[in-house]
Amino acid sequence: MNIAIIGAGAAGLSAAYDLVGLGHQVTIYEAAPHTGGLAAGFKEPYWDWTMEKFYHHWFQSDKDVLGLIDEIGARDKVLFPRPYTVIYYQGQFYPFDHMYTNMPLFLLRHFNPLDVARFGLAGAYLKFSSNWKALEQVTADEWLNRRMGKRVYESMWKPLLVGKFGEENYRDVNMAWFWARLHSRTTRLGTFVGGFQAFFDTLAAAVQLRGATLHLSTAVREITPKESGGITLHTPQGAIDYDAVLSTTSPRLMARLTPALPPDYLAQLNALKSMGAVVMVLSLKQQLSEKGYYWHNLPKEAGFPFLAMCEHTNFVSPEHFGGDHLIYCGDYLATDHEFFNLTQDELLDRFAPALPRFNPNFDRSWIKNVWLFRETYAQPIPPINHSQNIPDIRTPLKGLYFASMSQVYPWDRGTNYAVELGRRTARIIAGDVNQG
Ligand SMILES: Cc1cc2nc3c(=O)[nH]c(=O)nc-3n(C[C@H](O)[C@H](O)[C@H](O)COP(=O)(O)OP(=O)(O)OC[C@H]3O[C@@H](n4cnc5c(N)ncnc54)[C@H](O)[C@@H]3O)c2cc1C
Repeated sequence: MNIAIIGAGAAGLSAAYDLVGLGHQVTIYEAAPHTGGLAAGFKEPYWDWTMEKFYHHWFQSDKDVLGLIDEIGARDKVLFPRPYTVIYYQGQFYPFDHMYTNMPLFLLRHFNPLDVARFGLAGAYLKFSSNWKALEQVTADEWLNRRMGKRVYESMWKPLLVGKFGEENYRDVNMAWFWARLHSRTTRLGTFVGGFQAFFDTLAAAVQLRGATLHLSTAVREITPKESGGITLHTPQGAIDYDAVLSTTSPRLMARLTPALPPDYLAQLNALKSMGAVVMVLSLKQQLSEKGYYWHNLPKEAGFPFLAMCEHTNFVSPEHFGGDHLIYCGDYLATDHEFFNLTQDELLDRFAPALPRFNPNFDRSWIKNVWLFRETYAQPIPPINHSQNIPDIRTPLKGLYFASMSQVYPWDRGTNYAVELGRRTARIIAGDVNQG
């Protein structure tokens, strides 16, 4: 079968790897000049490694992506350094990277024994229960308030929910979303030698070695069904017919590209809500976090202009970046937020005054370079009973398939789940093909 895939991110490349492995002819169209999608990297000419445009790491439990890395023979390139994650509480940063040591110590210091016990019980339930179906029927706001108690919820979890989904959405998010994070994540964080872009380059090379064709800088303009069966892709090189097409774009873009989809499916795509992301990367002449912390979770009510400050070079060594110290200042925001319209300099003027809070000696003369990355489709918002809203991978147009971050539910979006979804979709396509 002649199959096209739109998008060379984690989902598209993983699907391609399996489909071409099964003997199909696969062509991948990627709008960007590089692979990797949301997890792509960039680099200065004097850096040895790439840095992700948006902060990225793997968890030790990310078995699908780690399994694929095994299959392409690159497991020796996966590193799991031991960076510090910290939370900001009452004017100070507390290491929070270890569930069983730092966290209880922090809790005992700041909360009464009853709060700590409720935290422990609720946390254990989330870690060991698999019953996410029950949890998707209640909001995270309600469940956490009730089970962990107001004090723990308001000081620890509510800032995370508000930060990720905004004041306007955080009360709608269902508890399965929160469960998925606690249930599946580990405290060790992983990356790839050379950065995530090096992983995608390796995967793309493996996919091409198996026989797939990859067209970079080639945006598909429209997807139309053929009367005689199959799907036509409208590309800069003209209209090309395929037996099957997999699109891995955002739901909104999928709806725009495919006006021939039936109204119900289009309405389902357009009803999916998500947050955008605004991430500024700064290269500095000196280390910012005096204690060498990597991930700083920041509550909005403490007046930080961003949700997270991640010092990338406290995760991987600055020696891979020509000695530069690299930080991310990132936030999830509605796409009509003013940060989507400010210029890079205007946004820097908003962000830079917060940096002395990480190091009182910080001075703007430390800044060597600035990059700004903005993405409108960055974090799906899962409301109550969200499992009923997920669009089918098989669209109503025969031969057209759709796989996006919005469909990895109940898991939170991540490259691991994009790989799982891509490979699952490949199995669905191959099965349909076999049935004729
Ligand atoms: C701020 C942020 C932080 C994140 N942190 C992590 C993390 O720490 N760990 C982790 O594992 N994951 C993380 N993720 C999630 C991860 O990036 C995604 O889950 C994953 O990359 C999704 O892969 P995908 O293939 O589904 O989609 P995408 O990566 O979005 O790939 C879709 C591809 O389709 C291409 N495309 C779009 N339109 C067209 C068109 N018309 N024609 C051709 N090509 C087109 C796009 O250019 C893109 O390359 C993060 C995401 C964000 C935004």
